[in-house]
Amino acid sequence: MLGVLRGMGITLKNFLASYVLPRRPDSLETGGIVTVQYPEERLPEKENFRNFPFLVFDGTVDNIRCVSCDICAKECPPKCIYIVRDTDSEGKPLKRPKVFDIDFTVCMNCGICEEACPFDAIFMDHEFEIGGPERQKSLVYHRDDLLKSTAHFQKIRPTDFAAIEERRKKDAEKKAAAQATVQAAAQPKPQTPPSPQP
Ligand code: SF4
Ligand code: SF4
Repeated sequence: MLGVLRGMGITLKNFLASYVLPRRPDSLETGGIVTVQYPEERLPEKENFRNFPFLVFDGTVDNIRCVSCDICAKECPPKCIYIVRDTDSEGKPLKRPKVFDIDFTVCMNCGICEEACPFDAIFMDHEFEIGGPERQKSLVYHRDDLLKSTAHFQKIRPTDFAAIEERRKKDAEKKAAAQATVQAAAQPKPQTPPSPQP
């Protein structure tokens, strides 16, 4: 009897949550109807949700973090990243990509590129509404399509952003201290004046 009453109580709770009480965004956890009337209704995005990668820049698009090291392209399991390093007018290689393409028809959203990048230059985005009428034109993203600011990263993943920025700050401090030590060691030592003759 107790079990029947408990079951009826759960049914009543779900009925009220579905049709009487205001809809709550966490209704998947709290009970009630769970169908989301997308796109009019949307569930709040979880911070750890990931979809396709983007390239991050600091401040302006000229300050792209990617140094074109090719590590993410080598680590990408389905090999959907294609990178060509940029060069200067004399053909000398530069630390930035001239071409950086990702084929989103092949990308399997694994996030390995983000994990592999030693320069915090590529992160997984929350964007998923990327459908288009023409597969190659719409879903092969080029370098400029992939660029997004650090402010975007901070907005979608504030916890990761804070942790990464803290680590980058500490790394920069360590690097500056090491450079200062090297520079101090390279300074010429002051000459010792000759001892006076007796
Ligand atoms: S995104 Fe990172 S791993 Fe990939 S090429 Fe650029 S710097 Fe290297
Ligand atoms: S998320 Fe995975 S499959 Fe997609 S580009 Fe990155 S490494 Fe490749």
